[in-house]
Amino acid sequence: MTATTAPPTTAPSGAVPSSPAQRTVYLNGDYLPETEARVSIFDRGFVMADAVYEVTSVLDGKLVDFPGHMARLDRSLSELGIRNPMDSDDYLAVHRRLIAENGITDGMIYLQISRGNGGDRDFVYPPADTPPTVVLFGWNKPGLADNPQADTGLTVVTLPDLRWSRRDIKTVQLLYPSMAKMEAKARGADDAWLVEDGLVTEGTSNNAYIVKDGRIITRALSNDILHGITRAAVLRLAREAQMTIEERSFTVDEAQAADEAFITSASAFVLPVVRIDDATIGSGTPGPVARRLREIYLEESRKAAI
Ligand code: PMP
Repeated sequence: MTATTAPPTTAPSGAVPSSPAQRTVYLNGDYLPETEARVSIFDRGFVMADAVYEVTSVLDGKLVDFPGHMARLDRSLSELGIRNPMDSDDYLAVHRRLIAENGITDGMIYLQISRGNGGDRDFVYPPADTPPTVVLFGWNKPGLADNPQADTGLTVVTLPDLRWSRRDIKTVQLLYPSMAKMEAKARGADDAWLVEDGLVTEGTSNNAYIVKDGRIITRALSNDILHGITRAAVLRLAREAQMTIEERSFTVDEAQAADEAFITSASAFVLPVVRIDDATIGSGTPGPVARRLREIYLEESRKAAI
């Protein structure tokens, strides 16, 4: 008999968790150590990317923009005809327990719902009463709101948007955004802005904005982009601060000639962009509009967090 090696008790190398070595995760009603959470290889999330997700940030142990994330989750599920097995209060309770059990002060909670285990792999959906698979886990991200990139700004490259045409549904089909992010890194940039028909759609995992003559310009909502929860909050706060907003598409040329550029997402909040391909944006340092919006958003988010 050959000697056997004990199974690893933490994630394999290359996937080192930033939270407790043995964090508590949620799977279909149970709170488990991460190494004991098991999902079938027949799960449609695994074989078909037939799943949706949400990522909610945690500041001071509280959830940011939680109702918005729940509303979008409902919409993503209903667009795909996946039953939502829990209500918003149930999800809130799970989020809060994961925050408490994992000692998360500043960090993120990830939620994924797949269409469940459909048995033999089949393009036809399994029966509607197939239980969806619900997974949540979180991680600590100390200094989440003190990202040094807020002071230096991000650099982005532009790449063709080769994703599918229902980007408004937040599915786990993240291979192309992941490839684009890798290509951006290979070119020495922080991220990529995706371009279709000469117009910027959004970033790999964030919404894209430019500022020209004091006007904030960002693509209008449609199936072409994810309806960012941070986008909605930032635009509302910008309107309240009497800033002018134009929800319309813009070209790469227009972006390169802008006074400022920035992105929004649940994990980045508002981050300035100081370079797009070879063009320096404005003075090459974060501009006043992006700085102000970041400040207002963080202030209001902390107040409204639950
Ligand atoms: N667009 C894409 C493609 C994204 O993946 C994300 C992040 N989930 C966003 C925009 C920003 O959305 P939110 O503000 O809800 O995080």
